[in-house]
Amino acid sequence: MIDIESLIRDIPDFPKPGVVFKDITPLLMDAKAIAYCTEELANLTERQHVDKVVGIESRGFFFATLLAKELNAGFVPLRKAGKLPYHTLKEPYLLEYGMDSLEIHEDAISKGDKVVLHDDVLATGGTAQAACKLIEKLGGEIVQCNFLIELSFLRGSDKIRRHDIRSLLTY
Ligand code: IMP
Repeated sequence: MIDIESLIRDIPDFPKPGVVFKDITPLLMDAKAIAYCTEELANLTERQHVDKVVGIESRGFFFATLLAKELNAGFVPLRKAGKLPYHTLKEPYLLEYGMDSLEIHEDAISKGDKVVLHDDVLATGGTAQAACKLIEKLGGEIVQCNFLIELSFLRGSDKIRRHDIRSLLTY
């Protein structure tokens, strides 16, 4: 058992005043913590059969890739608009101020694929909600949305409540 909470630091007023940013880079520098989190995320899925682990740019990529390896699944990147080179589907979502959008390669998921969505942090849930829409538009079946950290006071889980939502840490 590793105290991963002690490896996540709070950065006040980042990226803007009033926000306390959860910085996972100390955790990423610790080899034992990487192994521990990968195994614990895999345990959250109860090691059911999974075809694809989808990771959200950019901090979601770290553990989504490790989790894919652990579950013997493929990895699929979801990226901000304009970054993926092949044909894409795009889904806009609301930010605190303005809009952003996520894209997925149109051949990344096959109809009926069992998919785990992973990101580092679930905050207001807009990002994860857009990600779920993209996966389902391609015919993927979302078996779980998992996160290292859920900021439950921001109620992001309300936006994806149809799904099985799990996190290693909840604040
Ligand atoms: P949401 O759409 O408000 O749920 O924001 C989630 C997205 O913003 C995720 O892709 C996170 O990587 C990022 N994010 C939000 N808050 C934090 C934080 O405190 N630390 C790291 N990433 C964050």
